Amino acid sequence: MEFGKFGGQFVPGPILKAVKEVEDAFDKYRHDPAFLAEFQFYLREYANRPSLLYRADNLTKALGGAQIYLKREDLNHTGAHKINNVLGQALLAKRMGKTKLIAETGAGQHGVATATAAALFGMDCEIHMGAVDVVKQSLNVYRMELLGAKVVAVEAGLKTLKEAVDSALMTWSGELDSTFYLIGSAVGPHPYPTMVREFQKVIGEEIKTQMLDLAKRLPDVIIACAGGGSNAIGAFYDFLDEPSVRLIGAEAGGKGLGGRQHAATMTLGVEGVIHGMNTLVLQDEDGNIAPVDSISSGLDYPGIGPEHAHLKDIGRVEYVAISDEEAVQAFELLSKTEGITPAIESAHAVAEAIKLAPTLDKDKIIVINLSGRGDKDVKHIARYRGMELHD
Ligand SMILES: *Cc1c(COP(=O)(O)O)cnc(C)c1O
Repeated sequence: MEFGKFGGQFVPGPILKAVKEVEDAFDKYRHDPAFLAEFQFYLREYANRPSLLYRADNLTKALGGAQIYLKREDLNHTGAHKINNVLGQALLAKRMGKTKLIAETGAGQHGVATATAAALFGMDCEIHMGAVDVVKQSLNVYRMELLGAKVVAVEAGLKTLKEAVDSALMTWSGELDSTFYLIGSAVGPHPYPTMVREFQKVIGEEIKTQMLDLAKRLPDVIIACAGGGSNAIGAFYDFLDEPSVRLIGAEAGGKGLGGRQHAATMTLGVEGVIHGMNTLVLQDEDGNIAPVDSISSGLDYPGIGPEHAHLKDIGRVEYVAISDEEAVQAFELLSKTEGITPAIESAHAVAEAIKLAPTLDKDKIIVINLSGRGDKDVKHIARYRGMELHD
């Protein structure tokens, strides 16, 4: 396995062949100077990197403890860290001679990011989405179509993300010559978790350079939210060998860990296979994958990237569960104190900083990876607070 006992390639034969082709291409290009130069060009000129590292003095003052810095992934083109990964995978697909990108999406964020890369590089794009989600997320469906993608509404089963994954995989296995399957987080069969981390590790590399520049030292703590775990592993990776830096992943505690309405995979998951990888999985009494629930669709996932499962195992990264209510309070506090409305996913990381900062001395430094911006969540949070907004 790639990560201790976690990782692997648990997929059926025809898909394994395609996954091996991706693995060969990734091995060939991951250290190739021309490929990396092209990737860095698009990160800089298209995605707007490096993203800022902002010293949040107002939030720091409000909390009365450690100094808080925000890594502003919300300022990237398309408003989140996802663009780093889709640019990398789309460029690899082009090197492989593929002309089409295929992906599944739940709430639509990964679908929009994939459609963006396809538009940029002149590739065909097909996004599979459960029919229930297509109705719920009509704005994102329109956005994908505007970008030139074809959105396939999947009518099987519960008509949500799981069926969309099956449908996208089935389509892929029928058109392997032309099509690249683009995964949206640090999950899936090898090489995807490693590949996505390589395309996201720029976040942590920039934090290190910027922090040394601004404060002449490394931070004491880095906090990131974890759904599949791509923004978190991107922020953490360059610090794994810096033992003085505490790394904390914040996952979705939903309505509380006592019942079933959460997505706290790192806290309550057990070892199992999901989406082609061996990792921690939330399971019910019968060993089936458990239903998950979170106010944040981006953290609503019953698995976790295998590298995180390993980093928990060896004790290098701590993982905490943040409830919906704590995340919403963080969403509101960062908006009021700094004029920055975070994605509700990122607000889980902010919530952990709100708990931790007052317990630390004023000379300590916490970096929060602000994975995305919150415009997409405003309506939903208003409803959570009992206000119905009309268009
Ligand atoms: C998709 C998304 C996430 C969750 O994905 P990870 O792979 O866990 O990073 C977190 N934050 C934002 C803003 C997202 O769009």
